[in-house]
Amino acid sequence: MSKTVVTRFAPSPTGYLHIGGARTALFNWLYARHTKGTMLLRIEDTDRERSTEAATTAILDGLSWLGLHWEGEPISQFARAERHREVAEELVRNGKAYYAYETAAELDAMREKARAEGRPPRYDGRWRDADVSEAPAGVKPVVRIKAPREGETIVRDRVQGDVKFPNKDLDDFIILRSDGVPTYMHAVVVDDHDMGVTHIIRGDDHLTNAARQQVIYDAMGWDIPVMAHIPLIHGADGAKLSKRHGALGVDAYRAMGYLPSALRNYLVRLGWSHGDDEVMSLDDMIRWFEIEDVNKGAARFDFAKLEALNGVHMRQTDDAELLDILIRTLPYLENGKTIADKLDERTRAQLLAAMPGLKERAKTLVELADGAAFLFAERPLAIDEKAKAQLGEQQKEILRGASAALKELDGDWTASATESAIRVFAEEKGAKLGAVAQPLRAALTGRTTSPGVFDVLAVLGRDESLARIADQID
Ligand code: GLU
Repeated sequence: MSKTVVTRFAPSPTGYLHIGGARTALFNWLYARHTKGTMLLRIEDTDRERSTEAATTAILDGLSWLGLHWEGEPISQFARAERHREVAEELVRNGKAYYAYETAAELDAMREKARAEGRPPRYDGRWRDADVSEAPAGVKPVVRIKAPREGETIVRDRVQGDVKFPNKDLDDFIILRSDGVPTYMHAVVVDDHDMGVTHIIRGDDHLTNAARQQVIYDAMGWDIPVMAHIPLIHGADGAKLSKRHGALGVDAYRAMGYLPSALRNYLVRLGWSHGDDEVMSLDDMIRWFEIEDVNKGAARFDFAKLEALNGVHMRQTDDAELLDILIRTLPYLENGKTIADKLDERTRAQLLAAMPGLKERAKTLVELADGAAFLFAERPLAIDEKAKAQLGEQQKEILRGASAALKELDGDWTASATESAIRVFAEEKGAKLGAVAQPLRAALTGRTTSPGVFDVLAVLGRDESLARIADQID
């Protein structure tokens, strides 16, 4: 019987959760969900200088926003240092690792010699079989692993295939520093083993680490987890991902108004595919996600695609749910504050009523909030330049007539009732519907684009609508 799958996401808390990390987390999470296993979270905070509490918070926050939930408490790698030391000492006792006493000057000389001989700098193993009684007094040793010297180490990777590393290139690397601090390479192995991790899914920049880590697994006689090194994300032009390309924190994507569902959908398609399917629900992804379908080549990040996909997800999201998402996101949107300040039961209901028209016209929540701004605008409305052009003398004359026609509608202020009234009025005037609708829209919203003008009338209500029109004609 095969073991229950345990994956892990292991970020270093030295900055925000960037987009590449988010994709790695997503793949781990999806694979765990796909196999009915679990995903654990380990904060790799061994680098005390660069790790911050704020970064950890940002990472947890970003994962939660994306809906990627981990099992149990996040594990601090730093807190496990004692256990890492224990394993290093066990390896020494079993003859699989050794104390090494070389000085910094000796290491420099070793590197220099290698350079002169045109070899890559490798530790020469001088303490590997040395007698500890020769140890210089007063020097605190490091612990080095005895790496194999002959043959090759093969990383059997589910994405990259079998990747061979000649053992002569894997020197006896340090697992415990002279101050007793475990190295990153060592800590990762001990943690993955102790956490029962069965599948390691991470960026392929860790592929060479995998070979070294295998040396530690073998030395301890531990099972090597399934490895899957996923290709990195590049910019749309194929170059390494930079800020300009989208190498931003997940929080920046929230602030740009992308839905978590759309970002997940976009990220899963970066390096993984299921036939030609582009738009996927969470259930689809969970059902379909197989590591074997991850591509070997680098994926390219494309803002235009993300935006288009976001528009699709917005339109697919039910109005009430989209409103909830919008309201939750308002504090993060640059243009969200005015709406957030004016949100009450009435405006909430107005927003919901306007949602079908608003979401048709918006590709992001920023655009959605922008489109909704007319609901919250205060009279007299600020009229933008384009809208001003719709409010010349001739148009004002039309508006006067339209206003009178609308006033005759008493109780029945629905989109269809206002539409019939305006149609009848336009016909009587011998005007095209647009010639009436455009100045109306300008007066009601201060803009030339908005949801359908009759929906706008309905959402604003009789009094507010007539007052906004009056502001422009009197
Ligand atoms: N902490 C590493 C990183 O953020 C990940 C290490 C791993 O997944 O093994 O790149």
